[in-house]
Amino acid sequence: MAEFDLVVRGGTVVTASDTWVCDVGVRNGKIAALGDGLRDAARTVDATGKYVLPGGIDAHVHIEQDSPETGARPGTDFYTTTVSAACGGTTTLIPFARQIKGESLRAAVEAYRRKPIGKAVIDYAIHLIVADPTPQVLGQEVPSLIEEGYTSIKVYMTYKALMLSDHEILEVMSVARRHGAMMMIHAENADCILWLTGKLLESGRVAPKFKGIAHQPPVEREAAHRAITLGEIADVPILIVHVATGEAAEMIRWARSRGLKVYGETCPQYLFLNENDLDKDGMEGAKCICAPPPGTPENQAALWHAMETGVFHVYSSDHAAFRYDDPQGKLVHGPNPPFNRITNGVPGVETRLPLLFSRAVTAGGIDLNQVVAVSATNPAKIYGLYPRKGTIGIGSDADFAVWDADRRTTISIAGLHDGMDYTPYDGLDVQGWPEVTVARGEIIWRDGEFVGEAGRGEFLPCDRPNPVNDRSFLDDAGVPQG
Ligand SMILES: [Zn+2]
Repeated sequence: MAEFDLVVRGGTVVTASDTWVCDVGVRNGKIAALGDGLRDAARTVDATGKYVLPGGIDAHVHIEQDSPETGARPGTDFYTTTVSAACGGTTTLIPFARQIKGESLRAAVEAYRRKPIGKAVIDYAIHLIVADPTPQVLGQEVPSLIEEGYTSIKVYMTYKALMLSDHEILEVMSVARRHGAMMMIHAENADCILWLTGKLLESGRVAPKFKGIAHQPPVEREAAHRAITLGEIADVPILIVHVATGEAAEMIRWARSRGLKVYGETCPQYLFLNENDLDKDGMEGAKCICAPPPGTPENQAALWHAMETGVFHVYSSDHAAFRYDDPQGKLVHGPNPPFNRITNGVPGVETRLPLLFSRAVTAGGIDLNQVVAVSATNPAKIYGLYPRKGTIGIGSDADFAVWDADRRTTISIAGLHDGMDYTPYDGLDVQGWPEVTVARGEIIWRDGEFVGEAGRGEFLPCDRPNPVNDRSFLDDAGVPQG
């Protein structure tokens, strides 16, 4: 028998910290050796002149998550979405199990696990969305779910069906602190959005581009500051999801300068799109509508500056696959809805990594080590999957992709595998695309063809990722001390 099941030979291996040329030896789904001259392999991939990056972790995706308030339904399933992720160099996804107000969180998780999630072709963990923090949910369900490996909790400061009061967020944070879960926060000021939206609609400003006015930067800045304050009071690290404005990024920079564990996530739609993409003919702009929406070109530049100076720790797609030409998709409220009635969300699970990889190799400002950090290593650490996932190291799962940095691609929906009928990045030129994707030692994407099997993905129970802040005035039970 060969010493290795697979050897990837001669590639330039990139981790969050290092770049070096070596062979990668895989045995039993794990990385067993890094070195020169690994020869004795059942299968070999020649990666000479190519980069070998850890498989991406897309830590913010919505898959088969319905939107009962609007009636919109995602047009794609676990199989398609995970195939699409793999074709773009991603080997782990973290979607959400969403609690409905008035119902149990435990029931939401069980219902989510009963969906055809078993058709996934890559591994996945699951975040919890707490929308109704009853004593039962906080006292029983969250602690036992954390114990079972659901160690991240998302809360919303906006959306009627999801939002919590500051008091409720503190209660959830207190449970997260006691049991060791990571807090994720959608930070936007709900009343500001409603007030601005009302004024815009009254004056007939209904086109998609006005979404940006309704979600202008102070809306996110205020909520980001409030989220930071709540996390400080409750003494938990927080991650602010899908940061869309340079002003919110400044809040994160400020909080960290004060020693708080505040993490920021941003997404391709804020780095690679701007308000001009919402202002296309007719309803074309609806294809780039998400919440928060992409902002001005100046804001986009501020977000790049934040990315280049280390403010963002995580880069996720926030993939939400509502099709355009579908009565339950983007235009569920008819062909010409006002901006606030267009279904929120853009797809991006496959294009996420190629877009950032391309930026690193063509424009500079960030290097490939940072690409790996924000797209794989940091999310693995923040969500309790490291070092099993998120790096190329001895003993880690053999999840990686071989990238051809010279390959030029013009993004179009025809070249993607996500089952969607549009991509918001249509027409963008990128340099670099994964040639081979390996997940737990198996080649599942090679030379433009998906070759993995439905159902090979596994559920990943996550470790507790959450060291408390060091500056606490709370005792071990979370009681404030004088
Ligand atoms: Zn989201």
